[in-house]
Amino acid sequence: MVYNLSPEEENKEIARRYKDLLKGAYQTFTTADKKEIRKAFDLAVEAHSNQRRKTGEPYIFHPIAVAKIVAYEIGLNTTSIVSALLHDVVEDTEYTIEDIERLFGEKVARIVNGLTKISHLKKDQNVSIQAENFRKMLLTLNDDVRVILIKIADRLHNMQTMDAMPPDKQLKISSETLYIYAPLAHRLGLYNIKTELENLGLKYTEPEVYNDISEKITQSKEGQDKYIETFSNIIKDSLDKEGFDYFIKGRRKSIYSIRKKMLTQGVTYDEIYDKFAIRIIYKSTLKNEKFDAWKIYSIVTDHFRPNPSRLRDWISQPKSTGYESLHITVMGPQGKWVEVQIRSERMDEIAEKGYAAHYKYKNQNERESGLDDWLNKIKESLENPDSNAIDFVEDFKLNLYAKEIFVFTPNGDLKALPKHATALDFAFAIHTQVGINCRGAKVNGKLKPISHELKSGDQVEILTSKNQKPNIGWLDFVVTARARTRIKNALKEDQKEIAEEGKEILARKLRRLKINLTEKVVNQLVNHFNLKTSLDLFYRVGNGSIDNNQLKDFAAKRNNALVSFFKNKMKRASSTPSTIEKEEVTDKFDSLVFGKEEEHLDYKMSPCCNPIPGDKVFGFVTINDGIKVHKQDCPNAISLQANYAYRILTAKWIDSTKQEFKAILKIHGIDHVGLVNEITQIISRNMSVNIHSLSMQGNDGVFEGKITVSVKNKSQLQKLSDSIKKIEGIETVERIYKH
Ligand code: MN
Repeated sequence: MVYNLSPEEENKEIARRYKDLLKGAYQTFTTADKKEIRKAFDLAVEAHSNQRRKTGEPYIFHPIAVAKIVAYEIGLNTTSIVSALLHDVVEDTEYTIEDIERLFGEKVARIVNGLTKISHLKKDQNVSIQAENFRKMLLTLNDDVRVILIKIADRLHNMQTMDAMPPDKQLKISSETLYIYAPLAHRLGLYNIKTELENLGLKYTEPEVYNDISEKITQSKEGQDKYIETFSNIIKDSLDKEGFDYFIKGRRKSIYSIRKKMLTQGVTYDEIYDKFAIRIIYKSTLKNEKFDAWKIYSIVTDHFRPNPSRLRDWISQPKSTGYESLHITVMGPQGKWVEVQIRSERMDEIAEKGYAAHYKYKNQNERESGLDDWLNKIKESLENPDSNAIDFVEDFKLNLYAKEIFVFTPNGDLKALPKHATALDFAFAIHTQVGINCRGAKVNGKLKPISHELKSGDQVEILTSKNQKPNIGWLDFVVTARARTRIKNALKEDQKEIAEEGKEILARKLRRLKINLTEKVVNQLVNHFNLKTSLDLFYRVGNGSIDNNQLKDFAAKRNNALVSFFKNKMKRASSTPSTIEKEEVTDKFDSLVFGKEEEHLDYKMSPCCNPIPGDKVFGFVTINDGIKVHKQDCPNAISLQANYAYRILTAKWIDSTKQEFKAILKIHGIDHVGLVNEITQIISRNMSVNIHSLSMQGNDGVFEGKITVSVKNKSQLQKLSDSIKKIEGIETVERIYKH
């Protein structure tokens, strides 16, 4: 659409939109309210006077539209309408928060400030930051829930007017909308807004699908209207006889919901049977509305057979979002199951617009306190989402109160770290090398281990040693991403060193078996041990997980192979070894890790494509069912990735024997001087075994001890416990699985 209004027409249009804003709002405004809104409007017009939207329209159209959504759709009062009119003023113009506070008071200033903060968050864009934004947004709830509500209104209007945006922005904003704003709107009981956000989200992320479904809906509209008419005609007389004031309409499933159902149930458009429901909306009083609902229920089921398993009474027990309605599925005309929703006008309005509508039916005083009640309820429900709603809010909840702590360097410099950060996080925050060589810390002058959790105000001095090296146990207690990645990199370096040593050891050992370490032999060994690369091989020899006996086995097999090779050569020229490849992979790649950090997380294999070890896969974070693993060429993959790019986790198969794991050994025996010393010596003599903790309890010369170590594999652990057993006085060494 081309925008071409003359300045005069434009001013008229602005005035018209402003009047429209005040007309249909939920709240009744006092003169003071109106004055305040006018003041905000005038300031916004003036402040944005030089700005235009991408469409060419004056910028002020946007704040007015947002304020209108806030007033009509969400039903908020003057404070929120004023804040909505001003929501982009600080962000985009010369005005400051202080100006707003001076002119409109502290409350409005706080809300506008919250909104400005959120839009600043949007500036850095990458996947994980989206999640971070969401978390920060939830955090602002501690200030004022109205910030979120206005933000949702802001987003709705931006989605409604996105045609002028470049396609990449459309896609980005839409995914974010589907990921964050629609679920939030749902959570807040803003049904209409949620549906519109979802539909618009789909329109820009999957335009063909959107158009296709929307066309089909148009095509089937006539048939549906006829159906509803037939249905109505059958019950009309009975309802009229009872004196009901009502109307019957069809409620169509939204385009987005249809798409979702097609995806999750793997059905076509035509196969979805509940594309629309019939809604009976009746006038009633608060006192009678429940009774009336059941009277109507009785009339409907007199004419149509109900499905008893599909009765939902949300009137006696409203949903946590405030939704009230009576649902029943009946065998309708043409022998089709159809859902009938019975609800009063009041219930209908609440269902579409959320709690705020509820207070339209109360007196002015109740309305004031009611709105606060509602806002508090929202806050509670977001803070305490144990109900069946959006589970992922819960995940974010974990971090909800993770505020920062501030600690000091010895020279008094301030460092900000996340709560629960340890001395080691601090060391990495100073410098990578300081982190890598960190062996302890002085916190407020006292010596503490590197795992010591820091508190705000601590002064921390890091103690380093050149011989110190990171081990995998460090990952257990660092909380900053920086420390984690640095430690992982160092571990990889370490792996390379071990591999280099391993190569020499291997050459030496093979020489004794009369084999030269040629490239061909390396390849044979890699195949023999089902490994992927020569580095894997050398590393394993280096850390001792491939030992002499295994190498002897290899040598023996190789000799046999040579013999049979010559035998076979007489019979056949070639063979096709490729068929066994898959099995080898399956055999060795037995563990799945997720994300850049290669973390072990709980997951399920998705039944739609049933991946097996070795397949190229990715993880998808579902809302109710944890991580589902799909094959990369799964038929659902593309749409998942397009719709929910933010819920995709990279995944890869690894060989778990290459990972270190923690093990606890329980030791029994008779105490003697120097015993602990002997134990620790044995452990430290074992290459790449790390002690995490060691505790001993003596009682009349008999002792019990627990050692926590990290090892690469079981055979290493076995060797270790064998050597400990040899120490004089040790009776038993056993592995336990819990402290
Ligand atoms: Mn805005």
